[in-house]
Parts: sequence; structure tokens; C-alpha cells
Amino acid sequence: MYPRLLLLVGIACSLVPFFAEAQDLDSLTRAYPASLCASCADWNKPQEPFQIHHNTFYVGTRGLGAILITSPGGHILIDGALPNSAPRIIENVRTLGFEPGDIKLILNSHTHYDHAGGISALQQVTGARVAASPASASVLERGAVGPDDPQYAIHLDFPAVANVERFIPGDTLRVGSLEVMSHATAGHTPGGTSWSWLSCDTNRCLNVVYADSQTPVSADGFRFTDSETYPTALADFERGFDTLEQLSCDILITTHPGASSLWERFAEGQDGLIDPQACQRYAVAARQRLARRVSREAAEGDNNE
Ligand SMILES: [Zn+2]
Repeated sequence: MYPRLLLLVGIACSLVPFFAEAQDLDSLTRAYPASLCASCADWNKPQEPFQIHHNTFYVGTRGLGAILITSPGGHILIDGALPNSAPRIIENVRTLGFEPGDIKLILNSHTHYDHAGGISALQQVTGARVAASPASASVLERGAVGPDDPQYAIHLDFPAVANVERFIPGDTLRVGSLEVMSHATAGHTPGGTSWSWLSCDTNRCLNVVYADSQTPVSADGFRFTDSETYPTALADFERGFDTLEQLSCDILITTHPGASSLWERFAEGQDGLIDPQACQRYAVAARQRLARRVSREAAEGDNNE
């Protein structure tokens, strides 16, 4: 009798993690419908995962980036997209033949619901550590941006993340043999971070950059030029542009793939993703966009005098 009983108990126990995971993901999908925001359904369209280079894979949705960097000693995942993107990301990781439980570290570009919303569910499913810049870590832990965020008051809350570790921007984060370098590229949010790493197959090593959003988007009334809640916004943007311009960058992937024409480039095949000028062009376009915003704010200021 006993061996049979033990066998049944064993089978039941092995099913527990499966059901726990399915329930978590399902309940999150129900709590955050596709109608969460005007663009959410579009952003969350499924996307077949694909290899970017060697150990670096795209596991995001059609409209929101999520990057898997793999090694025999564990994987790193950057970004969680929307709360209800988590099931898609997990499915994509599995489709590529990797185990979600082998993701040991989850990182983030910036703490808006469309890039950080899925992190809590992904953390629960994978058991991974989550690490963020100090400014981002506080937002992740609250699941809500603070008054220093340019989109404060219009920005949607998202599931709070537990046990967020802090790193200092510029730090290198490691899992097994993997090393990814953090770069402060704030302005869009106070804690915004871009990531770079070297991906080497037997033939060549390529510098991959996952660049954060660089758009000066804000709630009505917020001014990047003289904000009291985020006084370093312009300086942060400028410092980030300088960093992105100087990075070794063979392949650029952005938080919103459309911001760097990912799909057009990928249509030319995997080598179509290689463009050593891409980060520089991304920074130049961002500088021009910010300059237009600053001019507009100056003009509005003159009108109010
Ligand atoms: Zn954003």
C-alpha cells in the first residue's frame, strides 16, 4: 500500500507548481483586460519569439520588447511588458526550448505599466531575483509612479513587485557567465535604464544594446524645462543621449520595437538587425525631439507672461 500511496502523493505534489503557475497567470490576465489602455490590445499582440544573436532572444509581444539572455548557468530577462503580457512571455520562453524556472534575474528599462506591468507575475512564476536602479526600485515596489514621473497623474498603476534589489547605474549585473551592463538613460522616467552586453558565438562577438524609451512624454502641465518635482529631467536626458551615442552598439533593440524599426530590419533576416550606427541615430533623433519640446515649452512660457 505504502509505495502506491507515496506514488500518488508524489504525482499530486508535482502538479502543484503547474496549477499555481496557471492560476497566477490566468488571474492576472483577467484583472488587466486588453482594454486597459487605448494601445494595449495592439501592443499585446502575440509575436513568435526569435533569436537576435547567439544567446540573445526576443520574447516580447509585437509591440513591447522583452529580451531573454541565456547561459547554462541561468538566464536573464529584461522587461515584463503589460501585466497581461506575462503569459505570452512565458509561452515564448518555452517555445524557444528554455525553462522559465531557469530565469534567475529580471531587469527593467523603465517603470511604466507597459514595460514593468508583467514583472510581478514573471517573478512569481520564475522565482527570479528582480534588480532595478534606486529610483525605479521604489516605483516597482509601490506599483505606482511618483510625482517626479513626467506622466504622474495620467499613468496607470501595475502589480507591485516584491524584494527589489538596488544597483547603482553603471554596475554590471551577473548570472552565471552572463554579464550585462546598466546605463542610466533617465528623463522619460527618473530611473530609466538601458542595457548592453556582448553576445559571442563561435564566429563573432556582437554588442547588443537594449535601449530605454527616450521620449519627452508627460501629463498636461508638466514642464521638462523647469519641473519642481523632477528638476534634473533635462540633464538626465542629455546624459543618457551622450551615453547611447558612445556605446559600442552592433544591434539595437528598443523597448517599443517600432521605435527602432525592428520589424523592417528583421524582415531582412538576422543580419538585418546589425547596424553599428543605430544607437547613435536613436540618440540623435531623441535629441531633436527633446529640442522641439523645449522650444514649445519656452514658447508657452512666453505666452503666459
Ligand atoms: Zn514609458
